[in-house]
Amino acid sequence: MVHFKDPFEKMEKEDESRRNLRKPLIAGNWKMNKVLTETIEYALDFKKRVSEVPDVEILICAPFPFLSPLVKTLEDSPIKVGAQDMYWEPHGAFTGAVSAQMLESVGCSHVIIGHSERRHKFGESSEDVNKKTRSALGAYLTPIVCVGETLEERESMRTEEVLREQVTMSLGGQTGEEMLKCVVAYEPVWAIGTGRTATPHQANETQLYVRSLLKEMFGEDVANRTRILYGGSVKPDNVVDLMAEPSIDGVLVGGASLNVESFEKLVKYREITAEEPGDVRDG
Ligand code: PEP
Repeated sequence: MVHFKDPFEKMEKEDESRRNLRKPLIAGNWKMNKVLTETIEYALDFKKRVSEVPDVEILICAPFPFLSPLVKTLEDSPIKVGAQDMYWEPHGAFTGAVSAQMLESVGCSHVIIGHSERRHKFGESSEDVNKKTRSALGAYLTPIVCVGETLEERESMRTEEVLREQVTMSLGGQTGEEMLKCVVAYEPVWAIGTGRTATPHQANETQLYVRSLLKEMFGEDVANRTRILYGGSVKPDNVVDLMAEPSIDGVLVGGASLNVESFEKLVKYREITAEEPGDVRDG
């Protein structure tokens, strides 16, 4: 049994083996926030701060009107740009909808699908999520497929049942090869925008369950190589402990990605010391 002196040391040890299989993804979800001038100002500042961070994939998922200008502003940086939703049809009479092909054509690399706000506020089902995921893959986008239980479901001990339904229905019907092009985000609904985070242990245990479902569906190799992000009130003062967990391969961040300084800290989570959570070391 290995003992770790502090969370930072623990992270370094566990990170190494995980990193060989699954590169950490730090993704911001801006939701319905910012206007164009704020977007450009943020992007110009953010790319100066994080362009040199190694071994981490960085993504900003912005509202539709800002995707194209964001892609342009960030083109000389490693920061990728994604959307927060899409419709599964490629084109046609679907007023207000945006297709995967449109996202790809403006330079998006990723798209969030089935976020709990889409599922709960817009009535999106796991069948819808499945159609969107397959359509995103068809347009060479990386879908970030979100799953997660509500507080009521957790308290009535139905977390596993709910996740089984969401994972099997949202990701079913595709090949292992296709699955490897997807990212899964476990986001307990009770932790999103509430300031209440799942404990790192709780998140890891639940993500191990999600990984076991992927193993049932696609086999061990695909399950071990699929990235599963955690999302729900992630901040600079809890990211180190979350990222230390072996089944957490990155974070999907709402509120804390809106501020350029706090998102920089999350991207540089390896530099946060155990003694001073939230502070970034010099140099
Ligand atoms: C999210 O939008 O996916 C999210 C996790 O939000 P927050 O970080 O604000 O809880």
